[in-house]
Amino acid sequence: MKINRIAILGGGSAGLLAALTLRKQLPEMPVEVIYSEDLGIIGVGEGTTAAFPRHLFEYLKLDPGTFYKEAEPTWKLGIHFKWGPYPAGFYYSFQSEYKSKWPELSRNAGFYCEAKTEWMGMVSACMAKGRVFPRRPDGSPHFHKGHAFHIENKKLVGYLEGQCRKLGVVFTEGKMSQVERGGEGVEALVLESGARITADLFVDASGFRSELLGGAMGEAFESFDRSLFCDRAVIAGWPRGEEPLWPHTIAETMDAGWCWQNEHEHWIHRGYVYASRFISDEAALAEFRRKNPRIANEPRVVKFRSGRYRRHWVGNVVGVGNAVGFVEPLEATALQMICLECSTLADTLRDSLGEPPPSLVELYNQFNSRQWEEIRDFLAVHYAFNERVDTPFWKACREETALEGAATFVRFYQENGPSAIADAVLFDPNNSFGLEGYLAMLVGQGVEHAKPWVAPEGERRVWEERLKHYGDHAARGYTVQACLELIREGKVKLA
Ligand SMILES: Cc1cc2nc3c(=O)[nH]c(=O)nc-3n(C[C@H](O)[C@H](O)[C@H](O)COP(=O)(O)OP(=O)(O)OC[C@H]3O[C@@H](n4cnc5c(N)ncnc54)[C@H](O)[C@@H]3O)c2cc1C
Repeated sequence: MKINRIAILGGGSAGLLAALTLRKQLPEMPVEVIYSEDLGIIGVGEGTTAAFPRHLFEYLKLDPGTFYKEAEPTWKLGIHFKWGPYPAGFYYSFQSEYKSKWPELSRNAGFYCEAKTEWMGMVSACMAKGRVFPRRPDGSPHFHKGHAFHIENKKLVGYLEGQCRKLGVVFTEGKMSQVERGGEGVEALVLESGARITADLFVDASGFRSELLGGAMGEAFESFDRSLFCDRAVIAGWPRGEEPLWPHTIAETMDAGWCWQNEHEHWIHRGYVYASRFISDEAALAEFRRKNPRIANEPRVVKFRSGRYRRHWVGNVVGVGNAVGFVEPLEATALQMICLECSTLADTLRDSLGEPPPSLVELYNQFNSRQWEEIRDFLAVHYAFNERVDTPFWKACREETALEGAATFVRFYQENGPSAIADAVLFDPNNSFGLEGYLAMLVGQGVEHAKPWVAPEGERRVWEERLKHYGDHAARGYTVQACLELIREGKVKLA
């Protein structure tokens, strides 16, 4: 069937990113967003991966200046894991560090940090020193693209809605109360007001309600609960005082899960993700408050289940965002998945001249499902090896976590150590974590392997000197605040 008109149910980040992507990539396609003020949006989702700026500025070619002005992001270079046996934890940046090989050394960097090093390269040195961008020889900041963002959800949604309106997306407020089935799937959405919305393709961005994909189409949900045990989060924060504004997210081990710290310019956003099988809401809240005595707003509990619907695209319904799948934000991957779902949808419609044949729909489903599974597999590695605390939750994680697709690489690592030989063979080129991510998590958590190696004295010296150089250079770099000021004063041209 030819698709001439698209209706999107949902005005959260998923619905808005879908509308924006479709209008930008298919300017002739009318797009209508239906949303309910009563139901509101989930209102969380404040850390991104580097895929998010790539989607906005490279794929959609949106103006970075407008984004910085309206969304007011701060930069995120990666994650500081307070995880594993080393007291300082370890850094996982969006750049290649563990797998990179320096010309003066015989092996890739992962081999040299057996006796745990604080940082592994220039970017993680910046994270450790609280500097976002290093200084160029002329003194200016070296803005590189290996970063993601922290963005307050309200500001992100405001920015996305503004961009959608500029591009002619039609917004209809009202609660959908009935779905009329027909033809290949959905014929129309009926709102409580009686309005009837028809389209050729319906994008389900209704969040956890999954009104169309899980509801009307009855698609089966596949749980990830063999690998991921957490199912709740308690969320709160406080206004920034004298605390350093880190250029990264912090992920900190807790008794029955972990706690994030997202860095906004004027607000510190914390959330404890936990497993209700191991801790009650009250006990989780008490632990969260003990850890974060400065909490200034009323903490709220969000319930979730990890997993995805079997297919993303069923009949004339395509799910995007929480309506199709969810995993906890340990790698802050939801916005990345939304971008991917939206770009593959737009590309599919464009390449098929608006008439995607079954083979393309099947490919769409395969590709996007695999992306969800790759995230689940990577997160499983975060749980299966974290020995930082010995609570019932973490013992169960170490004993019971199903590694699923990560098992092959974990076995390779246990037999061969942090070798980069395997990169091209063991990882799909679309795997967004790849060898670098897996090495960061396995080396960082001190996972033992069968090929321990002590670098010869000469190589060890080169390694240490280079790390010292990175640390010194990073310490002279720019703080997040200093870079934000440069942008606001118009002293930096954003590419
Ligand atoms: C604890 C937690 C932490 C998270 N942290 C991160 C993070 O750091 N990074 C990240 O990328 N993501 C994170 N996420 C995921 C985040 O929720 C999503 O990225 C994002 O907000 C997408 O939400 P959504 O648009 O799919 O759903 P929602 O925001 O729930 O939007 C659903 C929309 O559908 C509408 N709707 C639903 N039913 C109807 C109806 N019947 N009629 C009319 N309208 C309807 C609603 O009104 C709303 O507009 C986190 C999620 C949780 C739970």
